[in-house]
Parts: sequence; structure tokens; C-alpha cells
Amino acid sequence: MQRCDTLIYADWCIPIEPDDRLLERHAVAIHDGRIIDVLDAALAQEKYRANAVVNRPDHVLIPGLVNTHTHAAMTIFRGLADDMALERWLREAIWPTEERWVSAELVRDGTKLAIAEMLRAGITCFSDQYFFPEIAAEAAADAHIRAVIATPVIDFKTAWANSAADCLSKASDLVHDRYVDHPLISSCFAPHSTATVSDEAFAQLRVVADQLDCGIQIHLHESAQEIEEALAKTGLRPFERLQKLGLVNASLLAVHCVHLLPSEIDAFAAAGVAVAHCPRSNLKLADGVAPVATLLDADVNVALGTDGAASNNVLDILGEMRTAAMIAKVQSDDAEVMPARSILRMATIDGARALGLAHEVGSIEAGKWADLTCIDLNRLHSQPIYDPRSQVVYTASSEQVADVWVAGRHLLDQGALTHMNSEDVIIRAQEWRQRIAAV
Ligand SMILES: [Zn+2]
Repeated sequence: MQRCDTLIYADWCIPIEPDDRLLERHAVAIHDGRIIDVLDAALAQEKYRANAVVNRPDHVLIPGLVNTHTHAAMTIFRGLADDMALERWLREAIWPTEERWVSAELVRDGTKLAIAEMLRAGITCFSDQYFFPEIAAEAAADAHIRAVIATPVIDFKTAWANSAADCLSKASDLVHDRYVDHPLISSCFAPHSTATVSDEAFAQLRVVADQLDCGIQIHLHESAQEIEEALAKTGLRPFERLQKLGLVNASLLAVHCVHLLPSEIDAFAAAGVAVAHCPRSNLKLADGVAPVATLLDADVNVALGTDGAASNNVLDILGEMRTAAMIAKVQSDDAEVMPARSILRMATIDGARALGLAHEVGSIEAGKWADLTCIDLNRLHSQPIYDPRSQVVYTASSEQVADVWVAGRHLLDQGALTHMNSEDVIIRAQEWRQRIAAV
């Protein structure tokens, strides 16, 4: 008998790699935070003696879901301003509220709420883009969730930094250098959009990102108005400007990409640019529908993101999966587009690849970190089960997520958070609402 820390038995397992297969009555063995074996349940009983055995009949085990784009602390602004188009929403609601209220304390409380919500929804890894990224990094590390902290780069003064140069130096000192060897936290840079960053700042960013070997993520072609305003101001579409600045390469994660020319899709494919598709944020702000089926045809890596809770309004990748599948079908006038298997990849391994983590997470394979999500299919609306892959995409809701492990740590156990106190998190959020609503 071989010793291991944890042995998880589930009726079904969707490892994603290799070849989208479905495993029945299998077990996953975990030791020192990593997956050491995926094997038939009967064999596992003979081979392993585990410190903890988790039995989950009627459940399906999948790789932890990856949220490639959010603004975690904006959970505090959830529901504050709905039913507005992007530019008005930003200029009249979000930016003035942020100017008045954003602080280290708000970011700590908002990020904790987001992390608790995401773990409850089966998300084991998220990429966050917000002010005070060092506070978000700390909150993620404390909660033992995996995070890619995308540090903001913005020309004007904010509560966090005075200028783009200040953003870059704080990002390297407070986030990159501090977490460079951390097993769960990594970092990249996040210029908000081409509208808020000058050519000089982009040039500095390029040098620093190269030096630190960090990726860049940016909101790109989210609305038609963003493109019109850029053309009027610079004569260039935002993507064209990034090309001129030498920022278009395989470490670029372009967020939204609702409005793309065929030549831009070709350029994405040629350069290896990845796309963070945030369908429900795009729908709610009436930005449009990203041409995902065309991007996939061109072999562009498309991953999923929730965007912030102020524009979505929930951090729920299972919900994004179903929405992404359905809008791609109607947009393409083809029900065969984006089948359940592709959507599952998009929410797991393709998300990991977009964040530069595909060698570590995104599938259930020996050697990878044990970032896992277990979903209970024993519900009226998920029965009967012909193919659990279809049930996960087309029937499951986040409330069915029973268990979550990140690097082998059991962070959600039969629906209960083990490392966070939900009540405290909710009380803090309610206190912020009282303060903000009182003004
Ligand atoms: Zn965003």
C-alpha cells in the first residue's frame, strides 16, 4: 500500500486531458498538494492508504474552474448602478464612486467577499485587476485560493498610485517581488484600456513586463464607442495602437474583444493573443456579443471571465459557460457550435493557458496541482444522467458545487467554506453598503 494525503472517489470524473474523456467510478489521489494518480476506484482501494478519504457518489469531479477576468473588490459595488451602457456606467457611476471610496480596507473586504463567492461557485483560480493589488494578493494567499494579480497601470492619480510610473514601481515591489516564488500567487500587468494609458506609459510598461517576464491583460474593443473615441483621438483602433507599441504577442490577454475585424482575428491568431470572454457582462452593458466561434475557428485561445460584480452581477463561471454556449449558437445560427466539451475546456485548461498556468493546473493529471471542483448531480433538474459533461454545462448551478480543493487543500467541504467565515464577510459588505448609500 502506498500512502497519500487524500483520496477522492466520485461517480464521474472529467479530467479534460487527455482527449475530453469521461471516467466512471474513478479516484483521484493527492499528495503534497499535487495529483499523484487518477485510477479506477477498485484499484485505488488496493493501491492507496489515505489520511483522508472523500466519497462522493452522484457527483462529478472536474478541474477547478478558472475565472480569467474579474475586479474582485467591486463586489462592494454590486447592484449600485445597473441598466446603463458601458461609458455612462463608468463615467457617471463607477469612476466617481471609486474616487470617493476605494481604499485598502474596501479592497480587502470586497476581495474576501469575491473569494468566498468564487470558491462557493467552484472557481479555484482567478485573475484580478484592481487598485491595491497587494491587498488582493494578501487576501488570496490568506484564503489559499490561486490568483493571478493583474496590477493596474493608469496615467491619472488614484487612491493607490500617483502616475503610471508609480503603478509600475509599486507593482514590482509590492506584488511581483513579494510573490515571485509563491505556489498560489503570480502577477501580471493590467493597463485598464488604451483610453487611459499614454504611449510613454505603454513604452515603460513594455520594458518592465519584459524584464520581469510578466504578461499583460487589457480591456480591448469592449464597446463600439471605445473604438470610435480612439479613432477620433489617435486615428487608430485600440488594437492597432497596441500593435504599433509592440505589445501584441503571446503574453497578451485581451479582455472582451466584442468588436473585431477579420484582420484583427487573424492578427490575434498569428501572435498567439488569448481572449478573456465575459459574455454576461457584455450582454448586461449591451456591448454586443464577441465573435467567439470565429475566434475558435482561427485557433485563438478563448477563456472565460466573469468581469466585476458591478457589471455582471455574480462571479459564477458555470453561469458564464451556459451563456457562452447559447449566445455562440444563436450568433452563428448553428446549434453545433461550442458543444459542452469545448465549453468545459474553455472554463478549465484554456483559462489556465490564458493565464500562463496550463503546465500547473486546468486538468486532472498526475503531476499537476490538485485544484479540483466536485459537483452534485443528484438534483431534480440534473436527472437522469446520460452524459455528465452535458449536465455540468446545461443544468448545473453554482449551488450544486459541493467541494473545492486548491493545491490539495479542502476549501469547500459539502457546501461549507472551511477557511473563511461567510457571515463575517457578509457583515463587512453590508457595512460598506451603509456607508456608501448614506452619501
Ligand atoms: Zn473588466
